[in-house]
Amino acid sequence: MSAQVINGKEIVSAYRAEIKEQVDALKDRGVQPGLAVVIVGDDPASHVYVRNKAKACEEAGMHSEVYKLPEATPEAEVLELIGKLNADASIHGILVQSPLPKHISEERIVESIDPLKDVDCFHPVNVGNLMIGKEGPAPCTPAGVIEILKKIGVEIAGKHAVVIGRSNIVGKPMAMLLLREHATVTVCHSRTQNMEEITRQADILVAAVGRPKMINRSHVKPGAVVIDVGINRLETGKLAGDVDFDDVLDTAGWITPVPGCVGPMTITMLLRNTLESAQRTAHTEAVR
Ligand code: NDP
Repeated sequence: MSAQVINGKEIVSAYRAEIKEQVDALKDRGVQPGLAVVIVGDDPASHVYVRNKAKACEEAGMHSEVYKLPEATPEAEVLELIGKLNADASIHGILVQSPLPKHISEERIVESIDPLKDVDCFHPVNVGNLMIGKEGPAPCTPAGVIEILKKIGVEIAGKHAVVIGRSNIVGKPMAMLLLREHATVTVCHSRTQNMEEITRQADILVAAVGRPKMINRSHVKPGAVVIDVGINRLETGKLAGDVDFDDVLDTAGWITPVPGCVGPMTITMLLRNTLESAQRTAHTEAVR
């Protein structure tokens, strides 16, 4: 039997409509959520991502500012800009697009962002809060995966979830969020032995590897939910996920398409984090 292909477009547009309603309600109280995106250099893919993020913000009724800085911008200038954005009351979310040029320390940049405006949830304070289960933003891609699982009605509690990849931006927080939802979680990475044996036990399999079509039917338990986070540009110019979609289709129970599911859901979570940051600010001002 063929897997159900998860309808990313439908999930994303319903979610964004809900966000827009909440943005409108907040605007009625005199607060317009604002996101500032900083991009340094000329990486074409990054410019596409930034454009998409700004467009999504505007469509949701939010205010967005994009700062395009030349490749040679000194780190001190980027830090100065972040300092100004931290102090700007009209900005509730700050995002610095990666990758940054080699002369700029990602770590120093991330740590300079006010944790309350860190809508990517990369600041160590927010990473720590996630770890101990404290309220606050969750990183956009893994948070989007959890929302997709909830929207399709998959029970996460008690299930065996296997995450392939252990990066700080996807794999590790993904494992943490699945754990928070009471899954039994296993994380695989480049040193994992007999990976197929492990992934074949997964009720929920999340691939975040960055290797086109690496995951095939031999990795998948019949009926499993397969979430493909990977976005890989092939030599043909086409995009491919980490999962060999056609090969897995007859084995999985559910599967996400690439592109068109986890990518736009990630941007949706960025909107959610910015909205929630603005809601927290409005609340703090109201109780003052
Ligand atoms: P990283 O390169 O930072 O991490 C890749 C992970 O995969 C590492 O933990 C690595 O293991 C593991 N890995 C590499 N090769 C293998 C292998 N042969 N077997 C098992 N594990 C392996 O990538 P990211 O986490 O940043 O991104 C992963 C993918 O997700 C990429 O395609 C990226 O483009 C995409 N992505 C998509 C987003 C979206 O919005 N949809 C957002 C962010 C990323 P080790 O740690 O041992 O090196």
